[in-house]
This record gives sequence, structure tokens and C-alpha cells, in this order.
Amino acid sequence: MRTYTNPVFEYRRPKELDGCTRHCPVVVIGAGPVGLVAAIDLAQRDVPVVVLDEDNTVSVGSRAICYAKRTLEILDRLGCGEAVVQKGVRWNVGRVFHGHELAYQFDLLPEAGHRRPAFVNLQQYHFEECLVRRAEAFAQAELRWQHQVIGVAPGKDVVTLRVATPDGEYALTCDWLIVADGAKSPVRHMLGLDTEGQVFRDRFLIADIHMTSDFPAERWFWFDPPFHPNQSALLHRQADDVWRVDFQLGWDADPEEEKKPERILPRLRAMLGAEARFEIEWASVYTFACRRMRNFRHGRVLFAGDAAHLV
Ligand SMILES: Cc1cc2nc3c(=O)[nH]c(=O)nc-3n(C[C@H](O)[C@H](O)[C@H](O)COP(=O)(O)OP(=O)(O)OC[C@H]3O[C@@H](n4cnc5c(N)ncnc54)[C@H](O)[C@@H]3O)c2cc1C
Repeated sequence: MRTYTNPVFEYRRPKELDGCTRHCPVVVIGAGPVGLVAAIDLAQRDVPVVVLDEDNTVSVGSRAICYAKRTLEILDRLGCGEAVVQKGVRWNVGRVFHGHELAYQFDLLPEAGHRRPAFVNLQQYHFEECLVRRAEAFAQAELRWQHQVIGVAPGKDVVTLRVATPDGEYALTCDWLIVADGAKSPVRHMLGLDTEGQVFRDRFLIADIHMTSDFPAERWFWFDPPFHPNQSALLHRQADDVWRVDFQLGWDADPEEEKKPERILPRLRAMLGAEARFEIEWASVYTFACRRMRNFRHGRVLFAGDAAHLV
């Protein structure tokens, strides 16, 4: 990507591989936004926590971009709201178009005197970096990168984990396990648990583009726009002159074909005009799912984030 290089977090050989045993009050699986927030919250309450992540960086490519005022207030409590607001793009106003016409507009924060805006837009990789930096500031939080959980044995009094590292495998026990290992949740599968709900039969293309533009920092949404007839489109400004464009494609679209630049560029040209200068940073095709586990708590194992509920 032109505007971002993923950091590489250092792998450290765990003492358990050299004969030490460790029992932790809390282990968190997954250093995504949810696992990191859980770890910061615990560490701030003086609860020792070990975070295990199989990767050694933040989110690769573009995912979440919009963070609501309530989320910012929680981040303030955790000591990282300011970093997110400073890096992100604030917005309060949204406009909805139907065809050529402005159909509706809203201001989510019409009153003065609020500490935080209605929303901040920020690429998820920046957001996660803010959380990693904050978590690293606590002696009570230990982040272990390239530590993949390959086994979980829940007991009545403790949970035992099997963890794989580049140097070999080790075991770890904890009083409480927070599982925040994402939508595909390997741990949920290991425990034979499932989600219920539905997957919507539609597909959407997201293209993050780098573009210098004086479009306002507002959320613009189109139904049946002239540049993309019979479908919807969405435009959001993010940090570093990166813009999120989202095109509804329909269920029959081929996800692999639609990610190709030769398919994306004509759509962007039609939307932004022949004069617009931009480069594609990232593209992917997604489908909406609305699924959740029936229970988030299973004894001493607590599921959180996309592992537990997914929209
Ligand atoms: C295209 C797209 C757009 C989105 N837009 C928005 C938005 O605008 N606003 C919003 O709020 N959300 C948005 N989301 C959703 C958001 O990205 C997710 O909700 C969020 O990343 C979930 O965080 P998480 O911490 O639960 O899981 P994840 O971010 O998926 O993190 C899971 C972590 O677990 C680790 N892991 C997995 N398995 C193991 C294992 N066995 N051992 C150790 N570690 C493991 C992974 O390496 C990863 O770091 C979007 C998602 C997508 C795909």
C-alpha cells in the first residue's frame, strides 16, 4: 500500500519452552481490536493478562473504518481515544442520494459541547496500532506475537492451552480465557461450537483509493446512482487522503474478477470523473453475514468480538 507499511512485532521465545510453568489469571486469544481492548481494560484494572496472536502485525489491508462516539468514549476510558481521534477523520454529516437527487441528509451531532464527534473514520491497521502501543505501556499486559493457539482444554477450575511458536510448542493454564480470534474462530471450532444466523445473498466491492480531493469529510450514500445504476454506492474519507468506496455488486458477481484493477477502474472513473487522480490502495469483495453464538460464555471460556457475533 502506498500510505501504510505494516509494522512487524517482535517474536520472543517464551520461558515455558525452557522449563518454566506459568498460570495466568486471564489469557486473551487474538490481538485484533477486541482482544487488545480487553487486554488494556484488564491491565488498567491491574489484572495480569497474556495476549496470544498467531500473527506478528496489525490487520493486513482495509477492514473497519467507522468508529462511533460511544466507542470513542470507551477508548477515552482506556487511554487511547485521543490517539484515534488525532489520526482519524471526524464527521457528523451524512447525505443520501437517490439517482441524481439529494434525498435526505442528517447531522448526528447537531448540539455543541460534545467532547467527541459523532464518528471518526480511521483505517483498522492504524486503529490497532494505537491499541498495541497502549497495551504495551502496561507491565500487566504481555503481548506474545507468533504464538498460535492449537489446543484448548476447558476444565472446571482452569483452562489449559496448547500454543505453537517458531521454537516449538508449550502449555499455558489460566483461570479465564477470552477468545477473540475473529470471525472464523479456530478456537470455536476446536470446542465444537457454532454460530447461528444468516448470510445475505449480495456482494459488495470495497476499494480504498489514495486521492487528494476537496470532497467534504461526510458520509455519502447513493441508491441507484447514475454512475452505478440499480445498485448502491458509498464514499467515506479516511486518514492520509485514503478514501473508502463501496459498490454493491449483486449476488451473481464473481468476487475474484471484481477485484481486478481492470474491473475496478471503470467503476471508479464513472463515479469520480475523468479528471480525478487516484491510485488503488486495496480492494476486496465481501458479503454481509448476521450470525452469533447462542451463548458467549462456556464455563471459564468467554467469546468476544467477531468470534462471538458477526455483522
Ligand atoms: C470489509 C470490512 C469492513 C468492515 N468495516 C467495519 C466498520 O466500518 N466498523 C466496524 O466496527 N467494523 C467493521 N468491520 C468489522 C471489523 O473488521 C471486525 O469486527 C473486527 O476486526 C473484529 O475484531 P476482532 O478482534 O473480534 O477479530 P479480528 O480483528 O479478526 O482479530 C482476530 C485475531 O485473532 C488472531 N488469531 C486467529 N486465530 C488465532 C489462533 N489460533 N491463535 C492465536 N491468534 C489467532 C488473528 O491473527 C487476529 O489478529 C469490517 C470488516 C470487514 C471485513
